[in-house]
Amino acid sequence: MEELKGEVALVTGGSRGIGLGIALALADGGAKVAVVGRDGDRAREAAASLPGEGHMGFSCDVADSDQVTTLARSVEDAMGGVSILVNNAGVTRDTLLLRMKDEDWDQVLDINLRGAFLVTRAFARGMMKRRSGTILNISSVVGISGNAGQTNYAASKAGLLGFTRSLARELASRGIRCNAIAPGYIETDMTGALDERQTTALMERIPMGRLGTPEDISGVARFLAGPAARYITGQVFAVDGGMVM
Ligand code: NDP
Repeated sequence: MEELKGEVALVTGGSRGIGLGIALALADGGAKVAVVGRDGDRAREAAASLPGEGHMGFSCDVADSDQVTTLARSVEDAMGGVSILVNNAGVTRDTLLLRMKDEDWDQVLDINLRGAFLVTRAFARGMMKRRSGTILNISSVVGISGNAGQTNYAASKAGLLGFTRSLARELASRGIRCNAIAPGYIETDMTGALDERQTTALMERIPMGRLGTPEDISGVARFLAGPAARYITGQVFAVDGGMVM
């Protein structure tokens, strides 16, 4: 079923991992997808790999206000107004609090939280004019539960939840929905390879007994972006095999 036909989606960090999984699912649903990453070649390659026509890749650092302004102009000129925005770009700089450098804190907050703010502000304007749209923020279960060694990352992901709920309240009357997904442990470049001891320790915390894949997230994203979720806004969906409940 191509329930997203006629929609233009933009996925930050859509060039690999969870973002690429979401881009694939939205393209499969019939949307034209703008794939965004700092590495423009990689974003363009990812866009070319998606099913269907009209997808494009764009280079942009979401933490850079000027680059985001340029991105909004380029995407809307080339593809039309964005109706599905997925704020997925994110990084980790894990370390214990007393060892955390200013740059570790600033970089994670700048990309994960400020980036979502800048990109949303740039694209929400068009959605408000058209009085329709949907915004999906990729948070994390550690934004709910916290995690030792990730004070910066967990703060950014918890921040995204407050951002999501406030935005949902602000934009609902304009026909724009805003939700968040909080993935558990998903196998991507970000999480890298685990040794046997780490995998065993992690499995003990996951009732469903396996790590997640980008496909575990992308189906939920497609649902939330689409018409079946038309009465859902301001919600957080943990997709984590039962890790946090
Ligand atoms: P990856 O490291 O595999 O991919 C990150 C993506 O984000 C890449 O496409 C990267 O492209 C892009 N990106 C990073 N920084 C920027 C930036 N400043 N501007 C634009 N794009 C950027 O990550 P995952 O797929 O694992 O994670 C995706 C999201 O899901 C993140 O927000 C992460 O926090 C979240 N998440 C992941 C979990 C996991 O277990 N993997 C669990 C919970 C949440 P490029 O390098 O070219 O910029």
